[in-house]
This record gives sequence, C-alpha cells and structure tokens, in this order.
Amino acid sequence: MIRFKKIEKFGLSCAGILTKEDIKSNLSENEKTHQIKSILEQNGIFPLTVRRVKQEHSDEILIIGPHENEKISTADGIITQVPGIALCISVADCVPIFLFDTQKKILGVIHAGREGTRKKIVQKALKKLNDDFDSNRDDIVALIGPSIGPCCYYLPTDLLEKIFNEGLIITENKTLDLWKSNEKQLVEYGIKEKNILSICECTHCNDRYYSYRKGDRELRNYAIGMI
Ligand SMILES: [Zn+2]
Repeated sequence: MIRFKKIEKFGLSCAGILTKEDIKSNLSENEKTHQIKSILEQNGIFPLTVRRVKQEHSDEILIIGPHENEKISTADGIITQVPGIALCISVADCVPIFLFDTQKKILGVIHAGREGTRKKIVQKALKKLNDDFDSNRDDIVALIGPSIGPCCYYLPTDLLEKIFNEGLIITENKTLDLWKSNEKQLVEYGIKEKNILSICECTHCNDRYYSYRKGDRELRNYAIGMI
C-alpha cells in the first residue's frame, strides 16, 4: 500500500492506495482476498471495518454513522466521523480525493472521474461536510490522489470543447487535466490553496497502478482512508 503521509500527518491513521503491486492480476479470487486482508492488517485496518459503495460516476455522497449496517449503497463519495471505519473507493484512472476536516476529525473519500468532476462531486462532498457536520472550510485539507494525468488523458476534440465550456481544465496538448480541474473546484469552494495537496502520479504512465485506459477492465486500485 502506498501511504499518503502528506495528509496522514494531519491526524489520519491511514490514507493510501492499494495498487497493482499489492494485488497481482495473476492471483485467484481467493488469493486476492487473502492478500488484500493481509495488507490491510499490516496497515492497521481490520478488514471487517472496510466500507465500500456501488460506484456509478454519480455525485451521491454517503454518510456512514457509528451504527451503520453493511449494506452497500450506490454513491461515489463516502464520509464518516467514526474512527476505525475504513472508507474505500476503487479507481483505475479516476481520481481519488481525500477530504479531511482537521478540527472536527471528519473524513471523506471521493471518486472523481471525468463524470464526477463534471458533476462537481468534490464540491457536493464539501457542501455535505458544511451542512451535516458544520465543517469550516478553513479547516479542510484535501489530497488529490493518483489518476490518469494531463500527460495521457486524450479525448475527442468535441468532447474536450464541451467539458472546457463546463469549466474543466484542458491543457495546451489538448488533454484533460483532472488534477487541476478538481483543484479549481476546491479553490472555488473556498479551500485554502495551501491545504490542497496533490500526488501528481499518472496511473496510465506509471506501471505500478491499474489503468482502465491501458487495458485493465476489471482490476482496480483501492483508495482507503481511516480516521
Ligand atoms: Zn501519464
């Protein structure tokens, strides 16, 4: 598991991502499950506390309270204030974003691909933090995790034009920059620039990650955060 110390240092017990190096593609399902469990345990996470959602490139955010059952809901963002619950989002080119209220100790893990970014899911999650937890935006630290980078995210010109008009960032090389697009949305919402951290690692160029665009149709990287 790659751990994101940059954001953990604000008081998270874990923020990281399981990659291709952790979950080798040649393993059987059983071996994979066993391997994932053992890596989680090595990182201080009890596998039974992991909460996942059915991701559909939506802008739905699920809040997980202390007595939640394990039913899997449809959502693309998960928020909790409960220590010891591990929030998990699967990604293979889409951006995992961690939001952490460092004062009230509330964590969100968000799945922001192209569609989620167009729907401004990160701002929806920030609004939830405001509305449901009375979070102060000055206290929120955000981490933009590894995803397909501006180096590789080529799209047809008409689609690029459309999403440019929606406010997303297109580079000089006619690629989509999901990192900067989400950064822009965070800043627009009032998150301090110094509190926006970025890993800037491309899942498409870097062979340690699964990448949908590079041909990984089933396998995923797992972004995991826990207070
Ligand atoms: Zn790249």
